[in-house]
Amino acid sequence: PDGYVAAPYYPTPHGGWTADWSESYRKASLLVSNMTLAEKTNITAGTGIYMGRCVGNTGSALRVGFPQMCLQDGPLGIRNSDHNTAFPAGITVGATFDKDLMRRRGEALGEEFRGKGINVYLGPSVGPLGRKPRGGRNWEGFGADPVLQAFGGALTVEGVQSKGVIAAIKHFIANEQEMFRMYNPFQAGISSNLDDRTLHELYLWPFAEGVRSGVGSVMISYNAVNGSACSQNSYLINNVLKDELGFQGFVVSDWLAQISGVSSALAGLDMSMPGDGAVPLFGDSYWMYELSRSVLNGSVPVDRLNDMTTRVLAAWFQMGQDSNYPSPNFDTNTQDETGLLYPGALFSPKGVVNEFVNVQANHADVAKEVARDAITLLKNINNTLPLKLNSTLKVFGTDAEKNSDLNSCSDQGCDKGTLGMGWGSGSARYPYMDSPIDGLKARGANYKFYDTNLFPITDKASPGDVALVFINADSGENYITVEANAGDRNIVGLKAWHNGDDLVKAAAKKYDTVVVIVHTVGPILMEEWIDLPSVKAVLFAHLPGQEAGDSLMQVLYGDVAPSGHLPYTIAKQESDYGESVELVGFQLGQPQDTFSEGLYIDYRHFNKEGITPRFAFGHGLSYTSFSFSNASISSVTPLTAVPPTRPAKGEVPSYSTAIPPASEAYWPEKFDRIWRYLYSWLDKSDADKAAAKANSTDKYPYPEGYSTVQKAGPAAGGAQGGNPALFDTAYTISVTVSNTGKVAGKAVAQLYVQFPTDISIDTPVIQLRDFEKTRELAPGESQVVKMRVTRKDLSVWDTVSQNWIVPNVGGDYGLWIGEASDKLGLRCGTSTGR
Ligand code: BGC
Repeated sequence: PDGYVAAPYYPTPHGGWTADWSESYRKASLLVSNMTLAEKTNITAGTGIYMGRCVGNTGSALRVGFPQMCLQDGPLGIRNSDHNTAFPAGITVGATFDKDLMRRRGEALGEEFRGKGINVYLGPSVGPLGRKPRGGRNWEGFGADPVLQAFGGALTVEGVQSKGVIAAIKHFIANEQEMFRMYNPFQAGISSNLDDRTLHELYLWPFAEGVRSGVGSVMISYNAVNGSACSQNSYLINNVLKDELGFQGFVVSDWLAQISGVSSALAGLDMSMPGDGAVPLFGDSYWMYELSRSVLNGSVPVDRLNDMTTRVLAAWFQMGQDSNYPSPNFDTNTQDETGLLYPGALFSPKGVVNEFVNVQANHADVAKEVARDAITLLKNINNTLPLKLNSTLKVFGTDAEKNSDLNSCSDQGCDKGTLGMGWGSGSARYPYMDSPIDGLKARGANYKFYDTNLFPITDKASPGDVALVFINADSGENYITVEANAGDRNIVGLKAWHNGDDLVKAAAKKYDTVVVIVHTVGPILMEEWIDLPSVKAVLFAHLPGQEAGDSLMQVLYGDVAPSGHLPYTIAKQESDYGESVELVGFQLGQPQDTFSEGLYIDYRHFNKEGITPRFAFGHGLSYTSFSFSNASISSVTPLTAVPPTRPAKGEVPSYSTAIPPASEAYWPEKFDRIWRYLYSWLDKSDADKAAAKANSTDKYPYPEGYSTVQKAGPAAGGAQGGNPALFDTAYTISVTVSNTGKVAGKAVAQLYVQFPTDISIDTPVIQLRDFEKTRELAPGESQVVKMRVTRKDLSVWDTVSQNWIVPNVGGDYGLWIGEASDKLGLRCGTSTGR
């Protein structure tokens, strides 16, 4: 349909044209111009699934000093490793609304990944955005709003990369459900059908910020967009990512997402992971030796291979990995000290694979801080919380105590005990779990714990007792099915797992004071019990990782006031989220998922339809109260309808485009091959045969729109993240936040933009554009908080001019400030200055 773009865009823009990467490109080009064909094709693909210590292992080019690169999951910690920290998940980080914590968690992650010798951190995840409340992997990202997601993603990138680790922001793009995500021989992967404006204003936004922060890699998602697989979608990779967003690093496929050799190369893919072709573990590849062949026979231009290689090397130089970077010292395939070096091979040598290097340092501190400052108080009648230290507590629900066999389910593919994370590649093994029960013990609390999800009939309530009921909701990645849920919450839906609602209701029957604590991947429905008179308090502890205990105790007992806010909307009933965001079920042919709601997801949708949610996006109570006053606005950069012209691209490396001699791809003599391992060499006869075809007229059919002429780049581009003028500060806003209550606490100031009401373009009534968390304010204390809006924040994506346009330059934009999307007490107008 109109505006649903997938227009071909060729060729792949050469990398290296922004000043901030030029030195790395200069260094990279010196190596590339000295590399053989087989060396180049060896570092742009993996050696095969399970063919090395990491989930992804590139080949090497040792002659020029480039080692194999280790790529490893995942967003919340090192997957399948030891002596690592299991950090709180992305959704928990989002709930802190704390930029400083977002960055510090990233730094700690970076230190751990570096310490284990990992070159590429496969995160952060900023897609899924959380369009579908049932989507299985929303919890890996930061919340159902592009700006919250963008700050979470970009600050993680900055933190991780400050330690020299390349971040691979993922999954590009519109990867909003798990079921049917992959292409297989019988069915194409699900197609996310979305219009250009929705792409730009929602799903691309966090990627743009990640690129602006200098991310070294972007991972392409499994699904298709508008009918064309993301892994070979020239519009998305060549145009949107590499030209418009000015992405200078390398594009890596999701694992086994590559479905063609030549087409994916032309469309801008730079690295195939884990390297396998249509049939994993058969020594089959679309690239590696096939890419060598395709270059020799003229199907893939040498120019494209040089660019791929340069991008990979440039990212490596950009993070300083050329000096003193550790090699991998762990193995994702086993916990044992010794094991197969290439578990995917037919015959593999054995050796020491796990060196048990402890990378935890003091990272438990930042992990706990995130877990604690994310805890979101949704309801608190009569100041039930904080608890008094001498209260008698009855604790219900298996979620209160850790699974005694902590890491018994591979990739956390089960829901047993305290839920600290969802399941799948985005999980980590727990070095330990500080559970809520551990926390109660450590406090010397007077409690009795019933380790069951059925309300115990033997329990006797005494007046004054407080019931703590722990419930949870889990989800994860599609390759594991948990209790019939195929990643997405397709069976349990938005209900609490394991009888959670009944447990709360039973406790509420017996106790006057019930506190519900929820560990969850996303919104749950709570209408069955939320208004029961004895349900006095509800806390969302999200997914705290290993630090589930003391972080919660600090809030429950009032050492600190809760300061988390909801990173999504909680509806009263599922249908309130809208029909178009339901999971897509089986369809004959390629499943089609049409984003007909456009910009209207989560609170944008609720506001548009006038639906009152149970708890709004951004909601979060404290033990104290805050006032927001003295909002003032000042104009910094005057707006123009169209942004100032973009800067032109800088110089990029240039190389000879002649097809190299076939001998550059011959197997080395007497080479001892590992069977099934992927190599970039060809048998001499194969290489010669390919080279002989180079000048034949019988050519690989190039896609429609193919061209070899490098473009100047779109108007909306110009630097990493897009035209730098888009990020000019248009206005700064300052507001005084005062603690008007009786205890200390941190407030979150949220800033939402309302477009001028007289424009003809349909825009959501309010959209989050910035936020800032205060320091801990003592009673009576105030802090002046500064926020800003950029030119982009006040623009809409104009599909005709393909640019960000300020729809009414002199118009009165409303900048709304408050502590939740439904609690915005202050307004500054851009034209009235008030
Ligand atoms: C996931 C990615 C992950 C990769 C490597 C894929 O199944 O979608 O997020 O990074 O596997 O484990």
